[in-house]
Amino acid sequence: MLYLAENKKVVMIGIPGVGKTTLLTKIVEILKNNGKNVHMISFGTLMFEVAKANGLTDRDELRKLPVSEQQRLQKVAAERIAAYNEEIVIIDTHAFINSPEGYYPGLPEHVLKIIKPTNFVSVSAKPEEIYNRRMKDDTRNRDKITLPNIKKELDVQSGMISACAVLTGAPVRYVLNGEGKIDEAASKVISAIGL
Ligand code: ATP
Ligand code: MG
Repeated sequence: MLYLAENKKVVMIGIPGVGKTTLLTKIVEILKNNGKNVHMISFGTLMFEVAKANGLTDRDELRKLPVSEQQRLQKVAAERIAAYNEEIVIIDTHAFINSPEGYYPGLPEHVLKIIKPTNFVSVSAKPEEIYNRRMKDDTRNRDKITLPNIKKELDVQSGMISACAVLTGAPVRYVLNGEGKIDEAASKVISAIGL
């Protein structure tokens, strides 16, 4: 029996500073060099574009909006993502968002139903490396950074992404983005998912 290659919608998650955007940029560069039709989407940027039309000016203020408003923006962003039909679409997002009301899911069931991911990639790194990456990156207005918080967030990440796998039936590939090993991490993801 012959199976036609299906389009892939890969959702890549990881806590802030783990290196998702860096890793994803590398993956897209490799895939484009191999002639693949690939599109990279930042979920947060899409949400921010919608929020800007409603007067928000700072991307890092998004997570401080009332959860109900963030949920509305999530839905609009998911609908835009669902409209892309490239061979490979990779979405840069978070499994949860740290809001004043607590951790809330970046990929609740209603959003997963709209996006219909085929694969999840959960990016992690050593807590100390994440700490240093956050401290170095002064382009972002980050929440208070401590090692115990980062460890807690890595725990919450793994719980949230397991729930996504159960809800959708899509597999989760874990990848360690080790310091200075971005090429290695990118090749692992590409070969694991068969991109
Ligand atoms: P956010 O969720 O806030 O967007 P992110 O997960 O996308 O964060 P990046 O912006 O990609 O994280 O990376 C954070 C910092 O870590 C950047 O300064 C980046 O250059 C650095 N970095 C990422 N991966 C590696 C790596 N493998 N080795 C060394 N530095 C890295
Ligand atoms: Mg990023």
